[in-house]
Amino acid sequence: MSKLDEFMRIFQLPPAMIPHIAFVATEQEIDLVVGLNNNVMTLPQVAEMLAMPHAEAEAFLQQAYYRQIIKRKTEDGVTTYSAYTFYRRLDPLSMYENWGDVPADARDAVIEWQLQEFINIWLPVVEELRKNPDAYVRIPNRDVLLLDEALEMVDAATEHVVVPCDCRAIVMACDRPLEACIRLDEGAQRTLEMGHGRRLTRDEMKRLVVDADRAGLMHTGNRRWRQLGQLFGFCNCCACDCYPFRGGIKLGMSQQWPRAHYIAERDLTRCHMCGKCAQRCHFGAFFRDGTRVVVNDKKMRHVAFDPARCWGCGLCATGCPEGAIAMRPLPVSAATDAAPSAAETIILSDQIRRMYDGYVEDRRESHT
Ligand code: SF4
Ligand code: SF4
Ligand code: SF4
Repeated sequence: MSKLDEFMRIFQLPPAMIPHIAFVATEQEIDLVVGLNNNVMTLPQVAEMLAMPHAEAEAFLQQAYYRQIIKRKTEDGVTTYSAYTFYRRLDPLSMYENWGDVPADARDAVIEWQLQEFINIWLPVVEELRKNPDAYVRIPNRDVLLLDEALEMVDAATEHVVVPCDCRAIVMACDRPLEACIRLDEGAQRTLEMGHGRRLTRDEMKRLVVDADRAGLMHTGNRRWRQLGQLFGFCNCCACDCYPFRGGIKLGMSQQWPRAHYIAERDLTRCHMCGKCAQRCHFGAFFRDGTRVVVNDKKMRHVAFDPARCWGCGLCATGCPEGAIAMRPLPVSAATDAAPSAAETIILSDQIRRMYDGYVEDRRESHT
């Protein structure tokens, strides 16, 4: 098998990227991945394998780690390196590099491939949810958050970092703000350690989140951060690019993943039928139905509401100029929002600690 074939096998490169391998890895990185060959190595072992001086190998590994060619793990004071796969490499490639220069047909194929990979990873958890919708499950972007809930998290955190949204960077289906993945406290520290992210003050972060909401981004994260006593971060998502929302729709799990906790309720006496809510809703829950109504002696195009399509994001409410929309909480099941058990807290803390540290299943930990 040629070196390139070996690399493609170990790195699990989707076929569409084979002609564009130069975007994925340098010659030296290909040597590294092939040399690691699904094993772990220490820095001296890598230096010897690549016949590099120690300092040069260290700088090279740092760069390869930043580019998510390799993952790093420190245990009992010993740091080891092993190869990532293209699935992880795609994040920094799209967020910080020249993903946009990859020909569109290859990008489209990779985007479809990645959504399917994402679904395959999370399918067992989704099946668990299907059987028992009230079960507490570990899944990225578990809950839809209202703006106020997202801002509460920002307030509670002491460390604030923003990174580009990998979903929008990869899919590029809309031009909503790219800097939108919020990392807080432990999540922020991990992100900075990796050499990624931009540190903000609490007030700057609040402004960024409010601006994201104004730009039509929905907030998603884990509502149980208080019970966990631990903040990691949250996302500002659109339905056109977001892997969790698109995955949820594809799996027939609308409103279940990410989980809706509210439903919009309109006060028709205040509504002027301006249509702003219909523009902001990602799911067509508010929509022009082709009829006309008279409002304040003016004939207006009627805006209808279909509650079955509402995902509880609150964008219609924050955008309504008349304050005509309130978000009504959905009945909460004790199991869904109860405090986690001690065992569960340990598992979740561990999940957060391992974030970015390079576990085979680490994509599962790469979202809040
Ligand atoms: S989950 Fe949302 S904010 Fe996070 S990366 Fe995806 S679209 Fe962006
Ligand atoms: S944004 Fe408010 S005022 Fe405008 S149509 Fe919607 S509910 Fe009515
Ligand atoms: S109706 Fe409002 S709360 Fe419901 S999904 Fe649409 S924008 Fe979000």
